[in-house]
Amino acid sequence: MAPRERFFVCHPSFYGVEYVINPWMEGNVGSVDAALALRQWDEFVSQLSARAGVELMEPAAGLPDMAFTANAGLVDGNRFIASRFRFMERHPEVRHFTDWFRKHGYRIVELPTQSSFEGEGDALFQPGQPLLWAGYGVRTALQAHRYLSDVLDVDVLPLRLIDPRFYHLDTCFCPLPDGRLIYYADAFDADSRALIASHFAADRRHVVDATEALSFACNAVVTGGSFLTNFAGDGLRARLATWGYETVTCPVGEFLRAGGATKCLALRLDHDHGTPARRTTESRFFECVVEVRGHLLDSGVLNRILDFSEEQGGSVEVENFQPGFRHDQDSWAQLRVVAPSSDHLDAIRKRLIELGASVASDEADAHTEAVVRRGVAPEGFYATTIFPTDVRVGGRWVRAGGQRMDATLVVDDATEVHCRLLRDLQPKDRVVCGGGGVRVHPPSTSDGGADPFGFMSASVSSERRVEVAVSRVAEEMRAIRARGGKIVVVAGPVLIHTGGGPHLASLIRAGYVDALLGGNGLAVHDIEHAMFGTSLGIDLERGIPAPGGHQHHLRALNRIRACGGIREAVRKDVLRGGIMYECVTHDIPFALAGSIRDDGPLPETLMDLTEAQHDYAAIIEGADMILMVASMLHSIGVGNMTPAGVRLICVDISPAVVTKLADRGSLESAGIVTDVGLFLNLLDRSLTERREDPTWRRAVHQ
Ligand code: NAD
Repeated sequence: MAPRERFFVCHPSFYGVEYVINPWMEGNVGSVDAALALRQWDEFVSQLSARAGVELMEPAAGLPDMAFTANAGLVDGNRFIASRFRFMERHPEVRHFTDWFRKHGYRIVELPTQSSFEGEGDALFQPGQPLLWAGYGVRTALQAHRYLSDVLDVDVLPLRLIDPRFYHLDTCFCPLPDGRLIYYADAFDADSRALIASHFAADRRHVVDATEALSFACNAVVTGGSFLTNFAGDGLRARLATWGYETVTCPVGEFLRAGGATKCLALRLDHDHGTPARRTTESRFFECVVEVRGHLLDSGVLNRILDFSEEQGGSVEVENFQPGFRHDQDSWAQLRVVAPSSDHLDAIRKRLIELGASVASDEADAHTEAVVRRGVAPEGFYATTIFPTDVRVGGRWVRAGGQRMDATLVVDDATEVHCRLLRDLQPKDRVVCGGGGVRVHPPSTSDGGADPFGFMSASVSSERRVEVAVSRVAEEMRAIRARGGKIVVVAGPVLIHTGGGPHLASLIRAGYVDALLGGNGLAVHDIEHAMFGTSLGIDLERGIPAPGGHQHHLRALNRIRACGGIREAVRKDVLRGGIMYECVTHDIPFALAGSIRDDGPLPETLMDLTEAQHDYAAIIEGADMILMVASMLHSIGVGNMTPAGVRLICVDISPAVVTKLADRGSLESAGIVTDVGLFLNLLDRSLTERREDPTWRRAVHQ
């Protein structure tokens, strides 16, 4: 006869719900019927004792969760690996549990990590195999499991929990002897579900339904051919019977109020993990060390790093931290990132590099791979951001040229690095792959008060705020013009419909626009207005539809096409005013990018979008400010090709569009939510007329 298995339990004399550290406890503080809880525990322990050896510990007063011994730690042979609870409320339990195990001859092992580890609650052996299933994501950190795999020398397979109601692995996962499993699939992320499926054939795993899962059916003690659970539905009972198990129901509803059932109340003292208990596969834990410097706390960078890593299924441990002691001093942190696969680690590392981290252990050159097929990058290529980027080449850090978003980094002549679009890649180009040997320099955003435009980006601007914002923009434009800088305007046709056309034309005449970017619609409606006084058929002076006005833009288009283009139309005196007229007569470069909704198009409209992107990129080169008004399409296009450091002002009536355009993690971008007609009117008056002009005041206060 097989020796009886042994379990460790703790009397629930002080059990109760006294705080809230999981969703089950919410609303249950003080609600436990202590006498009933005691009866339920007695009944469970008597069922357990009938089938297995039971070691009892007396609890300490004031620690209501000690009855949940599965969270005390993990036992392996004569070693007790103590828990490091995530929540302060349970920290004092550790001392009592370790005392008990020490007194009973166990060697106490502490994992060499500050990260949380909640014992058998998140670490379940597959009976008879050198394999530990390791839950993480809610309570236990991935780091803890990484060390556990070294300590135990068994395969540790991480499973990520994604539903806070199933905060420990043993609440939703119950491995059985003979390579079988009972589990609740929805508690896990997709990768973990796939890992489970790859390990257990479909007929060896049983998925419980939500009702059973929420009654903690999986939180069962399996011993001596019995399955001791709080609840089991008919399907589960039938499956267990087929597999040769007797289902024993031990209702422990009072313990469910705290988020625990039968398994939580018992810690296994002996495990059979096959002989020899040795790791058979490579470690499932992938890690790297990164360093990050800057205003880490007040800028929120550290939080973003931690949050992103967790969202991606990894986790981060701060190994070293040196705070800046004065407001103007940087902090420095060294972080160990652990992930459950090399793909996860790569994704996390790339994002951390975008946030300004550098791979600490990586003083090697960036890894490059050659392009094989024109326009196709090697699989693991590094994708650029808008921020200045250095690449380590030949032992030196080299700043990448042509910084822009969504490009690759190509090492040219072994000494220079350039951002290059996928489509421009040529065979043999050496493309940087992975995040090693790459450093990104995002701005430090610690000084909230220093950004003169900070006030704009938050929310819908009131008229007063628009007025203030316009005068700030005007000041900057004046300063840029005075120093011979470059201002580029990106605009959509709605600026013509809202009466902004004459104001933009005025700004061009006054020398405040050095280049114009837009689409066919901007030019078509501007020319319609110049020729017919209408925009989309509406008489802009009188605000009413003009007879036959709906055809005006087509007639205007036709006239320009007849001339051979906008420039020709100006030369032939067919086009005599408006934005495009001012551009031609003041020699202001412009590029019109085509789109699927274009009429005509105008001869100048670039219907080849690669060519249009190329012209746009050439025009914005060297810009000091880009004023993006009422065109989501063209503004987003421009934003993607503009490096950090260029002042971007986004004006749109839609807060969502402004947020999208202005929120690029760069201090230089700002958004103004307002009508473009009003904005250009105020800007024009601010820049081209004296402020005391009463009409300007009227316009502002209307
Ligand atoms: P878009 O949707 O990209 O951008 C329009 C933006 O204007 C939106 O973000 C919207 O919120 C904003 N907006 C609307 N009313 C506003 C107001 N009063 N003040 C401030 N912002 C306001 O569209 P788009 O850039 O106008 O056009 C997309 C493409 O379609 C362009 O390439 C354009 O040239 C083309 N188009 C062609 C024609 C034509 O050929 N006849 C006409 C219109 C557009």
